[in-house]
Amino acid sequence: NQAKSKFLASMSHELRTPLNGIIGFSQILEMEISGLLTEKQKRFFNIIKESGNHLLEMVNDILDLAKIEAGKTDITIKELFNIGAMLERSPGVISGTAKEKGLQLEVDIQQNLGWIQGDETRLKQVVYNLLSNAVKFTESGKCIGIKGRAEGEAIVIDVWDEGIGIPDDHLERILEPFEQVKGNLSASEGGTGLGLAIAKRLIEFHKGTLTVISSVGKGSTFTITLPGRIQEGVTEHPEIGFAGIADHTDFPGNGYRILVTEDNESNRNLIEAVLEPFGYCLDFASSGESAIKKVSETSYDLILMDIQLPEMNGVEAMRVIKEKTNRSIPVIAVTAFAMKGDAEKHLDEGFDGYITKPIEIPQMLHTIKNNLQ
Ligand code: ADP
Repeated sequence: NQAKSKFLASMSHELRTPLNGIIGFSQILEMEISGLLTEKQKRFFNIIKESGNHLLEMVNDILDLAKIEAGKTDITIKELFNIGAMLERSPGVISGTAKEKGLQLEVDIQQNLGWIQGDETRLKQVVYNLLSNAVKFTESGKCIGIKGRAEGEAIVIDVWDEGIGIPDDHLERILEPFEQVKGNLSASEGGTGLGLAIAKRLIEFHKGTLTVISSVGKGSTFTITLPGRIQEGVTEHPEIGFAGIADHTDFPGNGYRILVTEDNESNRNLIEAVLEPFGYCLDFASSGESAIKKVSETSYDLILMDIQLPEMNGVEAMRVIKEKTNRSIPVIAVTAFAMKGDAEKHLDEGFDGYITKPIEIPQMLHTIKNNLQ
């Protein structure tokens, strides 16, 4: 894999360098800086430019695909985000082109669809890709749309169209690299045949599936299924469960006030999404200094303290808080230092508990509950 990654990095550079020459100099020709072009030369030049751009698109897509396959991507599966909100916003990118083409766009996203852990940017890329295909392969006057719904612990997203459809003999292979139905489009809008292959791998990276059903002349539906749905307002529906936690264990937040000291926004969002549905009241500080200030102004029932903070670290901040409050508030370390011995070290330093990152939600809920009792 290391050799593969190295190869990809150098191939990326090697392929882009000559492309830079082709695309760059064709722009100079287009500007007619070095003399006027005849009509015939303009036609030839347009072919060079289009082919250059197409090649660049292919190089980018191939590298993306190869990087995903080599496991060498910047995909961050740990980020928690509101998938319902993301899906509501997603058609915005194509609504203009759809309208221009005379297509009707239907958006049907279930209310409170919930949150999932994954890479929002990459999942957005997949949805955008499917929506663009729907626009590309559907004739004026017809409908395209996106539907999002919850099925138990899974999120199911359909991107559908009433377009030209995919013949049966292509359908099986359409999610494979370079698979295209020939003759559907003009060369300039032909694409690379890699979008769906990348989409499939990105979804599989999230432990989900991408499937397609299609009928020639009637339309196609691409379905993404993603596991690990975290429901909003879970305390109101304990029977549905928070990955099994709320089913059989009780974590009453009862308005307990918790100060979360964390400098990373994504981590703050994660903690908020986990704790708020249980009824905990959260307040946030992004540095040790501001946590100390907040503790002297407001009374809290518990403090979550990141260790690696800018300037004053979490251990120092905990010590000051303990001293100021006569050790009356439990302070729990939230830390990426999860090596053997680290936990004991934190407890020795004076923390009342510790939670390791990436956060295990059940561990976090138990540690908080035990320290509030
Ligand atoms: P590209 O669109 O760049 O060719 P994709 O991997 O996104 O690459 O799509 C591969 C092929 O699958 C397309 O060229 C087209 O033949 C077919 N296809 C994809 N989406 C649709 C759709 N919604 N309707 C009909 N055919 C489609």
